[in-house]
Amino acid sequence: MRPEILFPLFKETNTLAGVGPKIAKLIEKLAGPHLIDLIWHLPSGIIDRRYAPKIGEAEPGRIATITVEVGQHRPAKTRRLPYKVICSDATGFMTLVFFHAREDYLRRILPEGEIRVVSGTVEKFGNELQMAHPDHVGKLEELEKLQAVEPVYPLTQGLSLKVLSKAIEGALEFVPEPEEWLDPAYLSKQSWNPWAQAIKAVHHPQSDLDLSLETKDHQRLAYDELLANQLALAMVRRHLKRAKGRPIPGTGELQKKILAALPFDLTNSQKQAVEEITGDLGSDLRMHRLLQGDVGAGKTVVALMAMAHAIEAGSQAALLAPTEILARQHYTTIAPLAEAAGIRAEIFTGRDKGKTRAGILERLASGETNIAIGTHALFQEGVDFKNLAVAVIDEQHRFGVHQRLALTNKGNAVDVLVMTATPIPRTLTLTAYGDMDVSRLTEKPAGRLPIDTRAVPLERLDEVVNGVKRALDKGSKVYWVCPLVEESEVLDLAAAEDRYAHLNQVFGPRAGLVHGKMKGPEKDAVMEAFSSGNVDVLVATTVIEVGVDVPQATVMVIEHAERFGLAQLHQLRGRIGRGSDASNCLLLYGPNLSATAKERLKIIRDTEDGFVIAEEDLRLRGAGELMGTRQSGLPEFRLADLAVHGELLATARDDAKLILERDPELEGERGQRLRVLLYLFERDAAVKFLRSG
Ligand code: ADP
Ligand code: MG
Repeated sequence: MRPEILFPLFKETNTLAGVGPKIAKLIEKLAGPHLIDLIWHLPSGIIDRRYAPKIGEAEPGRIATITVEVGQHRPAKTRRLPYKVICSDATGFMTLVFFHAREDYLRRILPEGEIRVVSGTVEKFGNELQMAHPDHVGKLEELEKLQAVEPVYPLTQGLSLKVLSKAIEGALEFVPEPEEWLDPAYLSKQSWNPWAQAIKAVHHPQSDLDLSLETKDHQRLAYDELLANQLALAMVRRHLKRAKGRPIPGTGELQKKILAALPFDLTNSQKQAVEEITGDLGSDLRMHRLLQGDVGAGKTVVALMAMAHAIEAGSQAALLAPTEILARQHYTTIAPLAEAAGIRAEIFTGRDKGKTRAGILERLASGETNIAIGTHALFQEGVDFKNLAVAVIDEQHRFGVHQRLALTNKGNAVDVLVMTATPIPRTLTLTAYGDMDVSRLTEKPAGRLPIDTRAVPLERLDEVVNGVKRALDKGSKVYWVCPLVEESEVLDLAAAEDRYAHLNQVFGPRAGLVHGKMKGPEKDAVMEAFSSGNVDVLVATTVIEVGVDVPQATVMVIEHAERFGLAQLHQLRGRIGRGSDASNCLLLYGPNLSATAKERLKIIRDTEDGFVIAEEDLRLRGAGELMGTRQSGLPEFRLADLAVHGELLATARDDAKLILERDPELEGERGQRLRVLLYLFERDAAVKFLRSG
């Protein structure tokens, strides 16, 4: 239950004066449905109305707040002409100008002969000083209120600053003063203000400096958010851990056979990951582990070792991939190794129908199949396992939590291993996967040659084509990635088709084209022809599937590389350098590179380490923008910006850990206050664990 002290903040915005259903809809679109959403909607700028000259001294072009005597009203003669009100002070005259004015209204706010304060932009029109549509008109008593610094908020079409500001002012009146949830010693060390004071202060910036995310008040609010995030994740994690698992007593026998069948040794980080996972599986707590490693780092083998452990104990395992292609790829890697170890692996996707499907389902249900590799088809109804103990989920962010649960519900106390090839900076791993233990594959498998990466101006396209020709003569395969045209998928495709037509003239049927608009089987056919058939140059839009493995591919051309993000470039380059031959990546760039684009290309040339690239990406772009936060499955914060507040995150994590060690159920005095914090940031789900736990 939400604490009572927060009730007012979770009222709907239409309960505010001046906010009707129409405005409420716009506010919801912009910020959210509740007062709290308005409170988190922070100013992006200021309007300084402190300049208060006499009319005679007023500088045109500036925003000024001027005290005047209202003179004659001159209503417009036609609709086209403005309504004018002549004003004056001891130093001169100024005309207030209104288009489409309503006379009765203007006469009410600007009565002739009285003193009024007007605030707006002063302009010179011929010899006349004017103020068109003053932002404010008030009485002399209001001078102080008007002659102030006003916050400017991000807006949305149809919602004016005046209306939004009024709504936010209204919402701020409901800000309660909850008891302090932060550690008093930390609070005073940082000399931070109490929450209520901090949130009010950030809505009333007095200068541009106050807008910086680094002010004490912003930091305090960001810390609150990060602490709520870390507490919630830690609570979920404790809950999941406490969820009883079942110890899987492997014998090590199948793992040994697999190792013997591998044509290589595991890298140290692979060994360590296998050890960590095997440890999790053997314990009676539920496994909830993330395996992070660049494309090509060798996650599949680690997953296979995990699954083998379960099979040694007589259970089954499932490997879930986001696409058909990837499922097949995993199957191809795993099948021979499984066979060598006497493990029965089977692939199951949405394409299996009728008799085939029935047969697969039958073997899963009877336990004859040890490992099922497949797509989302695996968690459909009607798919039953005899004894599912381990689920490996590849490329997690393409699956929702519900889908993940649907798979784990097909067994009893299923241990979960999530694999991701998206290198995430450490700080972000904490916010996104803080509920999981993490194993990282940091080394490249031995024998991999570094990729020679170069940036080449697009004008030298002919040379690049010649280079491609030479590579083909040596028996290599070549990826040619075409630019993303942001505004339009159609243009995007057209660019790829043009390039394909061009390369087709040069290379004939050795050139192939794959793009996002193709149907599954059509796409697979082209990929198949590239990986083992007679297509040697694959022109592609960015649809090249993450993880697709064609070891003979040694050249990657990326056209208009400056239009891609760092993470994307890194992922794309990861397609090559997988075999024993040297590889080349060519970043073709267009004219007029921006400074950041230059820096991006330089970073990609300088390093192949995905984790380093991810950190640089964070530095260059800020967490909010990081490779499209949404699609990467990273959480979005309302106030905190990890590019600025990254250090606070580490403190928040330690703080959260300590808090839960001392008071796991948040029952003590500070615990109760922290519950308010969790509800404030709508981490309600975490609080529910406390009761159900
Ligand atoms: P990921 O899934 O992490 O992108 P994969 O598991 O598909 O990478 O492995 C990529 C390739 O590297 C596969 O062909 C795999 O057999 C090979 N590989 C994995 N581990 C090693 C290793 N320790 N030494 C050499 N090659 C390896
Ligand atoms: Mg893979």
